Amino acid sequence: MILVSACLAGIRCKYNGKDNGIPHIKELVRQGKAIPLCPEQLGGLPTPRPPAEIKGGSARDVLQGKALVVRRDGADVTQNFVMGAREVLRFCQEMGIKRAILKARSPSCGKGMIYDGTFTGKLVEGNGITAQLLMDNGIEVVTEDEIEKICWEDKGKQIFL
Ligand code: SF4
Repeated sequence: MILVSACLAGIRCKYNGKDNGIPHIKELVRQGKAIPLCPEQLGGLPTPRPPAEIKGGSARDVLQGKALVVRRDGADVTQNFVMGAREVLRFCQEMGIKRAILKARSPSCGKGMIYDGTFTGKLVEGNGITAQLLMDNGIEVVTEDEIEKICWEDKGKQIFL
Protein backbone atom coordinates (compact mmCIF):
# COMPACT_ATOMS: atom_id res chain seq x y z
CA MET A 1 0.00 0.00 0.00
CA ILE A 2 1.21 3.50 -0.79
CA LEU A 3 -0.01 6.93 0.22
CA VAL A 4 -1.15 9.44 -2.39
CA SER A 5 -2.17 13.07 -2.10
CA ALA A 6 -5.96 13.00 -2.11
CA CYS A 7 -6.24 15.75 -4.72
CA LEU A 8 -4.23 13.58 -7.15
CA ALA A 9 -6.84 10.86 -6.72
CA GLY A 10 -9.60 13.20 -7.84
CA ILE A 11 -10.84 14.26 -4.41
CA ARG A 12 -11.83 17.92 -4.42
CA CYS A 13 -9.74 18.92 -1.44
CA LYS A 14 -7.66 21.72 -3.00
CA TYR A 15 -7.79 25.18 -1.48
CA ASN A 16 -10.08 26.29 -4.32
CA GLY A 17 -12.44 23.32 -4.01
CA LYS A 18 -11.04 21.59 -7.08
CA ASP A 19 -8.82 18.54 -7.56
CA ASN A 20 -5.59 17.64 -9.35
CA GLY A 21 -6.78 14.20 -10.40
CA ILE A 22 -4.66 12.23 -12.82
CA PRO A 23 -5.65 8.87 -14.29
CA HIS A 24 -2.55 7.00 -13.08
CA ILE A 25 -3.21 7.85 -9.45
CA LYS A 26 -6.94 7.20 -9.67
CA GLU A 27 -6.15 3.79 -11.10
CA LEU A 28 -3.83 2.99 -8.20
CA VAL A 29 -6.60 3.83 -5.74
CA ARG A 30 -9.16 1.88 -7.75
CA GLN A 31 -6.90 -1.17 -7.66
CA GLY A 32 -6.59 -0.87 -3.88
CA LYS A 33 -2.86 -0.16 -4.11
CA ALA A 34 -3.01 3.39 -2.79
CA ILE A 35 -4.85 5.32 -0.12
CA PRO A 36 -5.59 9.04 -0.55
CA LEU A 37 -5.18 11.53 2.29
CA CYS A 38 -5.18 15.34 2.41
CA PRO A 39 -3.01 16.69 5.22
CA GLU A 40 -4.54 20.15 5.12
CA GLN A 41 -8.03 18.75 5.66
CA LEU A 42 -6.66 16.41 8.36
CA GLY A 43 -5.21 19.49 10.00
CA GLY A 44 -8.70 20.89 10.38
CA LEU A 45 -8.78 23.34 7.47
CA PRO A 46 -11.99 23.74 5.48
CA THR A 47 -12.41 23.32 1.72
CA PRO A 48 -12.43 25.69 -0.03
CA ARG A 49 -9.90 27.70 1.98
CA PRO A 50 -7.56 30.62 1.30
CA PRO A 51 -4.20 29.53 -0.16
CA ALA A 52 -1.24 29.38 2.21
CA GLU A 53 2.54 29.28 1.78
CA ILE A 54 5.60 28.68 3.97
CA LYS A 55 7.18 31.97 5.06
CA GLY A 56 10.49 32.73 6.69
CA GLY A 57 12.20 29.36 6.43
CA SER A 58 12.02 25.76 5.32
CA ALA A 59 9.53 23.01 6.09
CA ARG A 60 11.93 21.68 8.68
CA ASP A 61 12.04 25.14 10.25
CA VAL A 62 8.25 25.08 10.44
CA LEU A 63 8.32 21.66 12.10
CA GLN A 64 10.85 23.01 14.60
CA GLY A 65 8.75 26.09 15.37
CA LYS A 66 11.14 28.50 13.60
CA ALA A 67 9.00 29.49 10.58
CA LEU A 68 5.33 29.87 9.76
CA VAL A 69 2.71 28.86 7.24
CA VAL A 70 0.55 31.88 6.47
CA ARG A 71 -2.47 32.59 4.33
CA ARG A 72 -2.46 35.36 1.74
CA ASP A 73 -4.34 37.55 4.24
CA GLY A 74 -1.60 36.99 6.81
CA ALA A 75 -3.45 34.54 9.05
CA ASP A 76 -1.18 31.98 10.70
CA VAL A 77 -2.21 28.40 9.83
CA THR A 78 1.03 26.77 10.94
CA GLN A 79 -0.61 24.57 13.54
CA ASN A 80 -3.10 23.19 11.01
CA PHE A 81 -0.30 22.26 8.60
CA VAL A 82 1.83 20.66 11.30
CA MET A 83 -1.10 18.77 12.81
CA GLY A 84 -2.12 17.45 9.39
CA ALA A 85 1.42 16.34 8.63
CA ARG A 86 1.65 14.50 11.95
CA GLU A 87 -1.68 12.79 11.30
CA VAL A 88 -0.48 11.58 7.90
CA LEU A 89 2.78 10.31 9.40
CA ARG A 90 0.94 8.54 12.21
CA PHE A 91 -1.36 6.85 9.70
CA CYS A 92 1.58 5.75 7.52
CA GLN A 93 3.39 4.31 10.52
CA GLU A 94 0.31 2.44 11.74
CA MET A 95 -0.35 1.04 8.25
CA GLY A 96 3.28 0.25 7.47
CA ILE A 97 3.26 2.57 4.46
CA LYS A 98 6.76 3.22 3.13
CA ARG A 99 6.12 5.13 -0.10
CA ALA A 100 4.10 8.17 -1.09
CA ILE A 101 3.19 9.97 -4.29
CA LEU A 102 2.51 13.57 -3.35
CA LYS A 103 1.41 16.70 -5.20
CA ALA A 104 4.32 18.73 -6.51
CA ARG A 105 4.87 22.30 -5.34
CA SER A 106 2.27 22.25 -2.51
CA PRO A 107 3.23 23.79 0.87
CA SER A 108 2.07 20.50 2.40
CA CYS A 109 2.81 17.86 -0.21
CA GLY A 110 5.50 19.37 -2.47
CA LYS A 111 8.98 17.93 -2.82
CA GLY A 112 12.04 19.67 -4.23
CA MET A 113 10.37 22.95 -5.20
CA ILE A 114 7.60 24.90 -3.45
CA TYR A 115 6.10 28.36 -3.69
CA ASP A 116 8.28 30.99 -2.06
CA GLY A 117 5.86 32.59 0.41
CA THR A 118 5.11 35.70 -1.66
CA PHE A 119 1.96 34.40 -3.39
CA THR A 120 3.42 35.45 -6.74
CA GLY A 121 3.81 31.97 -8.20
CA LYS A 122 7.59 31.99 -7.73
CA LEU A 123 9.21 28.68 -6.78
CA VAL A 124 12.15 28.05 -4.44
CA GLU A 125 13.96 24.89 -3.43
CA GLY A 126 12.22 23.16 -0.55
CA ASN A 127 9.64 20.65 0.55
CA GLY A 128 6.13 20.83 1.88
CA ILE A 129 5.54 20.21 5.59
CA THR A 130 4.04 16.74 5.19
CA ALA A 131 6.58 15.66 2.58
CA GLN A 132 9.41 16.78 4.85
CA LEU A 133 8.03 14.98 7.90
CA LEU A 134 7.48 11.76 5.94
CA MET A 135 10.97 11.82 4.45
CA ASP A 136 12.51 12.60 7.84
CA ASN A 137 10.84 9.42 9.09
CA GLY A 138 12.08 7.15 6.34
CA ILE A 139 9.14 7.24 3.94
CA GLU A 140 10.08 7.55 0.27
CA VAL A 141 8.35 10.46 -1.41
CA VAL A 142 7.98 11.13 -5.13
CA THR A 143 5.74 13.63 -6.88
CA GLU A 144 3.29 13.03 -9.67
CA ASP A 145 5.82 14.65 -12.00
CA GLU A 146 8.33 11.91 -11.18
CA ILE A 147 6.08 8.87 -11.42
CA GLU A 148 5.43 9.55 -15.07
CA LYS A 149 9.09 8.77 -15.62
CA ILE A 150 9.74 5.93 -13.19
CA CYS A 151 6.82 3.60 -12.72
CA TRP A 152 4.03 3.70 -15.27
CA GLU A 153 3.83 1.48 -18.30
CA ASP A 154 1.31 -0.14 -20.64
CA LYS A 155 -0.62 3.07 -21.42
CA GLY A 156 -1.82 3.55 -17.87
CA LYS A 157 -3.13 0.06 -17.26
CA GLN A 158 -0.34 -1.43 -15.19
CA ILE A 159 1.69 0.21 -12.47
CA PHE A 160 4.81 -1.19 -10.93
CA LEU A 161 5.63 0.11 -7.49
FE1 SF4 B 1 -3.63 18.04 -2.34
FE2 SF4 B 1 -1.82 17.87 -0.40
FE3 SF4 B 1 -2.99 20.22 -0.96
FE4 SF4 B 1 -4.42 18.29 0.19
S1 SF4 B 1 -2.67 19.33 1.07
S2 SF4 B 1 -5.06 19.55 -1.54
S3 SF4 B 1 -3.54 16.45 -0.75
S4 SF4 B 1 -1.63 19.06 -2.31
